[in-house]
Amino acid sequence: MALKDYEFWFLVGSQYLYGPETLETVAARAQEMTDELNACGLLPCKVVYKLTAKTNKEISDIVREANYDTKCAGIITWCHTFSPSKMWINGFVDLQKPYCHFATQYNKTIPNEEIDMDFMNLNQAAHGDREHGFIAARLRMPRKIIAGYWKAESVRRKLGDWMRAAVGVAFSKSLSVMRFGDNMREVAVTEGDKVEVQAKLGWQVNTWAVGDLVKEMGMVTEQEIDKLYNEYMSIYELNTDDIDAIRYQAREEIAIKRMMDRESCKAFANTFQDLYGMEQLPGLASQHLMAQGYGYGGEGDWKVSAMTAIVKAMGEGKAGGTSFMEDYTYHFSEDGKYSLGAHMLEVCPSLAAAKPKIETHYLGIGMNEKDPARLVFEGKAGPAIVISLIDVGGRLRLIVQDINCIKPILPMPNLPVARVMWEAMPSLELGLECWITAGGSHHTVLTHDVTAEQMKDFANMMDIEFVHITKDTKPEELEYQLLISDFVWKNR
Ligand code: MN
Repeated sequence: MALKDYEFWFLVGSQYLYGPETLETVAARAQEMTDELNACGLLPCKVVYKLTAKTNKEISDIVREANYDTKCAGIITWCHTFSPSKMWINGFVDLQKPYCHFATQYNKTIPNEEIDMDFMNLNQAAHGDREHGFIAARLRMPRKIIAGYWKAESVRRKLGDWMRAAVGVAFSKSLSVMRFGDNMREVAVTEGDKVEVQAKLGWQVNTWAVGDLVKEMGMVTEQEIDKLYNEYMSIYELNTDDIDAIRYQAREEIAIKRMMDRESCKAFANTFQDLYGMEQLPGLASQHLMAQGYGYGGEGDWKVSAMTAIVKAMGEGKAGGTSFMEDYTYHFSEDGKYSLGAHMLEVCPSLAAAKPKIETHYLGIGMNEKDPARLVFEGKAGPAIVISLIDVGGRLRLIVQDINCIKPILPMPNLPVARVMWEAMPSLELGLECWITAGGSHHTVLTHDVTAEQMKDFANMMDIEFVHITKDTKPEELEYQLLISDFVWKNR
């Protein structure tokens, strides 16, 4: 499902105390707000006004419906009037969808002449939303609270961002990951409890034989390769004479995509240690698949592959770019301290600052018989985040670091892969100390399109631990936070 196909159900809290006229006004205004929100252009998904809730049964019924409706990616509640919260308990206990409490108000300001007790009885969000908020706090519900005037652009943007995070949840819950081969031998951080991950995040992570992929590659026709080759030529710049290598990557891409689509997988992982029967590690193939929204993880890293696909789904339609990434090497100069991110081949061209070049180069790592074709480019500048999901034993931890991507300060003419350079927060050294303290992987998802707040919302909805390294983070405070967090999570 595409982002625009998802709905968010708007449930407005009230009760019978105020009489039918008030309830009619509340319903009309809720519909008016829904229509304006849908027309404002700032929300990626549709809002559907469902009901003005007056009884326990109405709420329980609508929650049951929301739980089973695949289009419904979450509910949004608001109390125009006072809505006694005991009637929300049964519904909330059963709720399985992301939940946003939209603490807003129909009118922007307090009127002078118009205000009397009728006005006060109709416009009670200031205390209605407090009663409503109490019960979610009491039930320890994961929720997003967005407060402010519903016509304010900043408030609408917040709601839109949360919708994207909630769609990430829906996407995650039905995500299948195709593994070709196991994780790279002896590597620890790319491991993880797949049963725990499926229970928490919904991912079905399963393996397919590299031999099956090779067989699938053998069934790709020259005409199919011609078509994809022409597509490469129309979007990338040719910078090699080795046309066969490019055509071989096209064959790999078509076969991988065909297997993934057949199994409804939106992400895959492979490893250079298991290429039996393949001439080249998929480079251009993996890069072009990522550009189409598929997740990818190198060295069998299925966690980063799945996260890449999820973050791409959350950022659908945005222009910044999202990719699988790896921290490679540092620049510790007094004039500026930077990280250089790259991979042996596979960085998504959605990050490219200019038209990527197709090149072929020798690759010593792995069992490549031929020089793999890959896209070479510089990453674009701008604020971004890097994301790592790790299994710390007994739970999952999502680590996010704020970074600022820059145009690489060196041309690095002999580096045969795509490269991204960034300043890490709070600084290269402190950021590194924090990242290592938290146990973050060398593999990450780098995104310009999704914010740390959205990833926090995602972690909250998924009930997993969240760690955010910002410009203000101090290593000793982070150490203490992780100590407390370990205690809390072990006792849940
Ligand atoms: Mn790697």
